[in-house]
Amino acid sequence: MSEREVAPGDDATADGTGVRVRAHPGLCQGWGNCHQFAPEVYPLDADGHLDLHLLDVPDEHAYSALLGASACPERAITLIMPNGAPRPPRLRPPVAP
Ligand code: SF4
Repeated sequence: MSEREVAPGDDATADGTGVRVRAHPGLCQGWGNCHQFAPEVYPLDADGHLDLHLLDVPDEHAYSALLGASACPERAITLIMPNGAPRPPRLRPPVAP
């Protein structure tokens, strides 16, 4: 996977595709749902909390990023779309794989 760590305030993905994920560690309660649906996008730390702040996710993993964000009961993950594209609605909470 080729995610790119990005600096806060850098509001566009590198190539204008994919999505940017912004995590809110203060909200994360360590449920692990995000990782369950998209382990390639959402790494967890040793305590089971989301271990990222801001990340570019390539287009091929954008849907799983949305699934993982939608599965978070704490709404601790925000998706930022490239080029001002509208953010997709939260999906219905998916059934665990
Ligand atoms: S689903 Fe939400 S609360 Fe659970 S680990 Fe992921 S970010 Fe944290």
